[in-house]
Amino acid sequence: MVKAKKHLGQHFLHDKNIASKIVHSLSNFNLPTLEIGPGTGVLTQILLPLLGDKLFLIEIDTESVTFLKEQYPQLEGKLVEGDFLRFPLDKLMQGSFQIIGNFPYNISSQIFFKVLEHRDRIPEVVCMIQKEVAERLSSPPGSKSYGILSVLLQTYYRIEYLFTVNEQVFTPPPKVKSAVIRFSRNNRQSIPCDEKLFFSVVKASFGQRRKTLRNSLRSKFVDLQTENEIFNKRPEQLSVEDFIFLTGLVADQQK
Ligand code: SAH
Repeated sequence: MVKAKKHLGQHFLHDKNIASKIVHSLSNFNLPTLEIGPGTGVLTQILLPLLGDKLFLIEIDTESVTFLKEQYPQLEGKLVEGDFLRFPLDKLMQGSFQIIGNFPYNISSQIFFKVLEHRDRIPEVVCMIQKEVAERLSSPPGSKSYGILSVLLQTYYRIEYLFTVNEQVFTPPPKVKSAVIRFSRNNRQSIPCDEKLFFSVVKASFGQRRKTLRNSLRSKFVDLQTENEIFNKRPEQLSVEDFIFLTGLVADQQK
């Protein structure tokens, strides 16, 4: 058996019913699918008969890769040993594809930033992550847990909180509860403002959550004119559209 390694965020799911529920949260089995971090293959064994040669996998842990190749010889050529965050995605997947996985919780945010970069090729993601992060990503404007990644991801994806998963169904059990969420690409092709500036306005706005946007943004954009009433608000009050409008105001002043 593969020994769970803490530094790789390895918590192996041992409940087959939950594994099946996660897999069947994908809405389409006709698309090439990338599983991130298959570990000992609890999702893989359910995915394989549904996807056949449309299943691709990337796993960083040599021991898990060896184990999987022994158990599932048909994965030859489909299973890459590597770090998802560093591996050039174009070498891994061609065209449009979806992502599934019980993500290593310590790098879930970085995985999401990579998804965002490649959003036009990734129509759907189903993943298990830390419950608290799942709540943050799926929360609407106005709620306490709404933050930077909620805004950036909700700009391009509809995010659904599907279900909560308890600690006891993992070996070893993690310290936190988990949840499964689904991202579906929305219709927004692009935003009507500079994307880099949009990202930095969102980040700066949440820099000091309790402060008004006027205060937070002035520390990043020196000499910013802040007469507009939107600057009296706090970041969690703003929708994606509000952030786009705000970015427009900042951009106009930088000309
Ligand atoms: N899918 C398995 C394992 C989940 S634990 C299950 O549900 O039981 C997370 C898995 O991600 C581990 O197998 C770990 O080795 C792998 N992993 C960690 N960091 C990774 C990275 N950067 N790239 C690819 N896989 C990674």
